[in-house]
Amino acid sequence: MSDGVVDPRRRVPRTDVLLADPLVVAAVAEFGRDRVKAAVVGAQERVRRGEIDPGQVREAVLAGLSTPVPRVVVNATGVVLHTNLGRAALSEAAVAALVAAAGHTDVELDLVSGRRARRGRDALAALAAAVPDAQAVHVVNNGAAALVLAAAVLAAGREIVVSRGELVEIGDGFRLPELLESAGARLREVGTTNRTSVADYAAAVGERTGFVLKVHPSNFVVSGFTSAVSVRELVSLGVPVVVDIGSGLLAADPLLPQEPDAAGALRAGAALVTASGDKLLGGPQAGLVLGSVEVVERLRRHPLARALRVDKLTLAALAATVRGPVSPTWVALRADPVVLRGRAERLRDALVAAGCAADVVACVSVVGGGGAPGVELPSWAVALPAGFAEPLRTGEPSVVGRVVRGRLLLDLRCVPASWDDRLREAVLRVGV
Ligand SMILES: *Cc1c(COP(=O)(O)O)cnc(C)c1O
Repeated sequence: MSDGVVDPRRRVPRTDVLLADPLVVAAVAEFGRDRVKAAVVGAQERVRRGEIDPGQVREAVLAGLSTPVPRVVVNATGVVLHTNLGRAALSEAAVAALVAAAGHTDVELDLVSGRRARRGRDALAALAAAVPDAQAVHVVNNGAAALVLAAAVLAAGREIVVSRGELVEIGDGFRLPELLESAGARLREVGTTNRTSVADYAAAVGERTGFVLKVHPSNFVVSGFTSAVSVRELVSLGVPVVVDIGSGLLAADPLLPQEPDAAGALRAGAALVTASGDKLLGGPQAGLVLGSVEVVERLRRHPLARALRVDKLTLAALAATVRGPVSPTWVALRADPVVLRGRAERLRDALVAAGCAADVVACVSVVGGGGAPGVELPSWAVALPAGFAEPLRTGEPSVVGRVVRGRLLLDLRCVPASWDDRLREAVLRVGV
């Protein structure tokens, strides 16, 4: 360091000085010494990196301690089910159910007889009512858990026959083939990436077959010279057919004609259908297992079922989601572009009036989260200079949009209309 230049590290307030500050001392009483010390070290690091001035350290320590966990995010990405943002936003009814379930509940007790009852029977009853084609229903931790359980029960030491076009990586490096093998099953791959015929399956099915698996390629599209085999045709092979529909549509939805649904797969003769609760169903993370009484009951009694058991909070939110009213996922998927444009224009007008360089642009939202990969939903966004992206993302509440060609787009499809004021204020806090 040359003379005359102050090394910024010398200006980092000392730990003992900070810990003696009356407000920091009060924070120690509230949060404990270890957490406060960690917050102090973190704030000092930020000074060293030049992110904050030495004079802001005390505020940074206190803000770091009181920042809510998790951080609330306004989803302006236009991705309805964004896995990094927690997939489905729950309905008000589901949130109310969660809050009620946080205390003691009748999750496993029949209040009339005073006896132990089937765990999560409200959620099971709601699912059974929503999918009358299912003889029995079980709920596990997530879609992956549903598949692992099916493989462990029906195919441990045996073969799962599956098309090479359906060997899906579901995200974060996790691949269905490896997941199934981890349950002790062997995969018998048939067909090719783009085409698999019923004869391919028929040639592979035999004494060692545990089941034939049909996986919905939920996060990619193969187009061109393709062919796949229907559930009905697979059932004609005379072995159990497990269908992983992925997204969790309980019944067919005309908005998403390419998405398979649980009722349809069961009617076609599937022994078991597996799905995620936090995709198109719009509920909490959960794995739904629907099928015949015999098969579902075997899954439910397997030792692994206990390890994959769902929390009372999940069961409460799931029951409320399935019973309705409609979920925010459902609302976002059906948002009217004309209404979205009107909201974007009002937001733009308010921002421009405050001196902000805002614009309104047409854009395209997607379903995301491993669902309806080819579907594009026309939408409208407020466009801001890209420099807004970082401060909005790190603000309170956090606003996450997407940067397209040097501009930040705030797509309104997944933002509840009642949040437009919060969104405007968040942008104005960043500045003009
Ligand atoms: C999402 C998905 C899974 C995994 O479900 P999680 O609930 O994320 O564990 C499995 N199969 C398919 C087809 C999926 O789309």
